[in-house]
Amino acid sequence: MGDGNSALDDFSDRGDALSGHWLNPPASLRGKVIAAALLLTASLLTVGAVYATGGTRYGFPHVCYLPILLAASLFGVTGGLSLGLLAGLLLGPWAPSEVGQHFHAQTTLTWMVRLTAFTVVGGFAGMLMNSVRRQQKRLRWLAFHSVTTGLPTRPALAQAIEALMQPAGPTATHKAPSDHTLLVIRINNFDQIVNALGVPVGDELLQALVSRLGELDGQALRVFDLGGGTLGLIHADARKWKAFVEEAPHKAARPVVVAGIPIYVDAVVGSADVDPLARSPSAIIQRASIALARAEREQRFHAHYQDDAEARSQRNVELLASLPQAIRQSELFLEYQPKVHLHSGQPAGAEALVRWRHPSLGVIPPGDFIPLAEGSALIHPLTRFVFAQAVTDLAALRGSGLEGGIAVNLSARNLADPALLHNLFEILDASPVPADRIELEVTESAIMNRPKQAVAALTALRARGIRISIDDFGTGYTSLQYLADLPVDGIKIDQVFIRRLLHDRRNREIVQAVIDLAKKLGFFTIAEGIEDEATATALAEMGCDMGQGYHFARPMPACDLSAWLRRPGARASA
Ligand code: C2E
Ligand code: CA
Ligand code: CA
Repeated sequence: MGDGNSALDDFSDRGDALSGHWLNPPASLRGKVIAAALLLTASLLTVGAVYATGGTRYGFPHVCYLPILLAASLFGVTGGLSLGLLAGLLLGPWAPSEVGQHFHAQTTLTWMVRLTAFTVVGGFAGMLMNSVRRQQKRLRWLAFHSVTTGLPTRPALAQAIEALMQPAGPTATHKAPSDHTLLVIRINNFDQIVNALGVPVGDELLQALVSRLGELDGQALRVFDLGGGTLGLIHADARKWKAFVEEAPHKAARPVVVAGIPIYVDAVVGSADVDPLARSPSAIIQRASIALARAEREQRFHAHYQDDAEARSQRNVELLASLPQAIRQSELFLEYQPKVHLHSGQPAGAEALVRWRHPSLGVIPPGDFIPLAEGSALIHPLTRFVFAQAVTDLAALRGSGLEGGIAVNLSARNLADPALLHNLFEILDASPVPADRIELEVTESAIMNRPKQAVAALTALRARGIRISIDDFGTGYTSLQYLADLPVDGIKIDQVFIRRLLHDRRNREIVQAVIDLAKKLGFFTIAEGIEDEATATALAEMGCDMGQGYHFARPMPACDLSAWLRRPGARASA
């Protein structure tokens, strides 16, 4: 892994804030000679000034300390001692104490004392400077290296990438594509390993992995320790690193032996080209991290960064950042999609679906921002807003024939926040709307991700009189054992089953089985995504209670909902 060190040398002497200092010794021989010549000239000029001002008796000999201290700072002990000695001798036996009419030689003791003072001060200043420089070097090393693994760290990686992003030569006018790739390797079970076996074993494991990576190719390889069991790797040969990521999952079957313990490493890799046109080195590190997250999401060992992913993630970041303001400034609004009783065709309520009227992007569908909000705490104020608005609209719609009330979608994270549930109760308390006119739709996966927590939250909501239905039923993995005991009132069969209902016999059998099972357990059933009359009729025959879909109505603003409910023949047919 000798190359790791060469990478390290690249950035240890660069002119960054820590290493750059005007008192640093000149790097080149030419610089050294020039500096020495200047110091010598300064000493001679000082000695000349001593003569010109009347001799060593007067103040000018003290100016000699300046070139001596400067020599000490530039050349350390050697510089300080040499110039101290030189200046001491130049102002020594041959320098008169007084020039002019009364020419006086100085006593031996005087010049010897001066010479001693010059050399001691020069030597001491040089020693101090050497020690400062050693400290500085150590600090610089620490700023760019991990103390435990000795590998260069993230700032060093950023510098190395920056160097690779530069055009080839001083005359280069355009940025040619770099043939280097950054790979970020994360050990998923690193925390577990450290917790179980201790930090030293974790560090040793990293070292062992680094030497395994050395098998990849000693030549064009640089390895960086990015912390928390994550390694960065810059590689110049696409063919070789691609072969490496292809083989690595097979090699991972071979445990790494650390301190006599065989350890299985569960790793994931994200890679990105070192693109000279990228905004900054950290943008490239971020790209590799985005690719790594994708690999993880798609349960693959490796993913390479693609541009559209960045555009998407950039848009996502911007959307998420403007969401709090959107909630405050009422950019969010609700549409309602009616539900109908399949047998009578009468209205059975409506589902509130949120939209975002973005000032520059226009109306954004929930699929574009709900998943983002769900990944952050913003899902709580969002749900609070939707719930409050739905309760307000429902109060205004009273008497319009909207039986069954309004359904609001709840996210998995909402179930984990007791404060939010409390907020919902407060909103209900402050409204004339009875709790049983409100229904909450919770997806099957939200419940099954953390069944215990979900059951506790749903029980509390039901105790307050709110009805609960399981949304997107059939797309999750509800265990039948759980289903019987779930504190819910109804099941909403997912659109995918409804869309295929008439064309797929087995699919129809599944839906029939769900309807029958729900009935036996005392749950109501509703089918979503009904787009034609034939499907509606078939579902009615199969015993499904309610339906929802474009066949009956598309989502619409609250004001249109009351008109829809009052439309001629509303009570007679769907
Ligand atoms: P969902 O809860 O399954 O909502 C049903 C989605 O299917 C709605 O899309 C609706 O417009 C659409 N849909 C209804 N009937 C038909 C049909 O006949 N054919 C087809 N092809 N589609 C139909 P929308 O409004 O885009 O909502 C998408 C998802 O966004 C919702 O799926 C829900 O998961 C989420 N969502 C919407 N509003 C909220 C909200 O206020 N809070 C939360 N947490 N999630 C929401
Ligand atoms: Ca829903
Ligand atoms: Ca649904």
